[in-house]
Amino acid sequence: MDDLREKLFYESKNGYDRIGTEERMAVESYCREYMDFLNEARTEREAVRYAIEKAEENGFKPYVPGMALKAGDRVYRSNRGKALMLAVIGTEPLEQGSVIAGAHVDSPRLDLKQIPLYEQDELCYLRTHYYGGIKKYQWVTIPLELHGVVSLKSGELVEVCLGRGPEEPKFVITDLLPHLAADQMKKTMAEGITGEGLNLLIGSTPYADDGKDRVKLAVMSLLNDAYGITEEDFLSAELTAVPAYDVCEVGLDRSMIGGYGHDDRVCAWAELRAIFDVTEPRRTCVCILADKEEIGSEGVSGMQSSAFDCFMEDLCAAQGAALRRCLENSFCLSADVTAAFDPLYPEVAEKRSESKMNHGMAICKFTGARGKSSTSDASAEIVGYLRGLFDREKVVWQMAEMGKVDQGGGGTIAKYMANRNIDTIDAGVPVLSMHAPFETVAKLDCYMTYKGILAAYRD
Ligand code: MN
Ligand code: MN
Repeated sequence: MDDLREKLFYESKNGYDRIGTEERMAVESYCREYMDFLNEARTEREAVRYAIEKAEENGFKPYVPGMALKAGDRVYRSNRGKALMLAVIGTEPLEQGSVIAGAHVDSPRLDLKQIPLYEQDELCYLRTHYYGGIKKYQWVTIPLELHGVVSLKSGELVEVCLGRGPEEPKFVITDLLPHLAADQMKKTMAEGITGEGLNLLIGSTPYADDGKDRVKLAVMSLLNDAYGITEEDFLSAELTAVPAYDVCEVGLDRSMIGGYGHDDRVCAWAELRAIFDVTEPRRTCVCILADKEEIGSEGVSGMQSSAFDCFMEDLCAAQGAALRRCLENSFCLSADVTAAFDPLYPEVAEKRSESKMNHGMAICKFTGARGKSSTSDASAEIVGYLRGLFDREKVVWQMAEMGKVDQGGGGTIAKYMANRNIDTIDAGVPVLSMHAPFETVAKLDCYMTYKGILAAYRD
């Protein structure tokens, strides 16, 4: 009977029961590298910069339009420093398709408004406009740091990074003390902290002079000393507040990683590491680090932009191949995180279908909401292909679904890839507390996502 059960029933198993000591060590060393990346990549620009640096160390060269390409060549193209595409040219012609892995490197955060600086009751603040889906109450009373760029009228771009170093000062959004929060506590969690209330405290010392806004003047003069900027320069700045703490191991067994921005840099790193490990693939391998996924993949650096098609067309042109033929024969892993089953909140999950921590790379046939609205819903054939591939290559993987039917939902870049006539499926790392300033993932799942992408690239 037990043999028959084993043969006929499906049950997802814990990855630690399926890997040996050697692979456990591989998980650890892979995750150490990932943690370094996550510490350095707090914004999409920083992620792209770090990725380019590592890509060049791994033999990738900037793609120049018109460049001749042969099998094994390694090229990359930065899209305005905010998104990145890399390729390793395959031995087969591009008309027979490519293998694409696409992740995003933007994460939910607090962007500064364009006229952010003000003084109120002798304290100085920066006003913010949140980016992506956040639970606002999670972003108060935690240390924050400022990253980004200021574009000057001269055309010069000033890089800003404040609060990253251990000795550097941090910033904070304050919250009401419980003693005086009687009214606030009656509000819903959505209303308790408002978008307009997310103002960053950045200074309190008045400038030694008379007149108004003395604290603001003192803050502005510090910024001027450090970066040579004036208040007007905020108009053309892209500055963002992100959590100011390092990535760390979580759990007595150190089996998990906690930090800001796992969504989706955990899959971005998996793709990068995988494409670095590819040498002379059969099909051309493409790795995408996209921007703007958290706000709908819009804009020039988002996945709806034709920057991707342009890059692929360039690669095709080098072989005299038709882009549309290449795309229709291509396969895309939309590498994005999914909701891990959280035993503290079982009520929102359909336990049988939800991905679990340590059960490996999570394949999501469909995302979307309600009646599968807004999802590309991968075909059975694509899921079947991956099952075969992952079993052959000993990738620990599982199926995933985003919560109970009608509980909510989410999307990824998958549908934008599928709309291009590319067979696409979502697969990535399960995350606890997704979109929180401190998200948690399991090390084993991070590694298996890398292994899964590498298997697809090498197939
Ligand atoms: Mn994501
Ligand atoms: Mn997200």
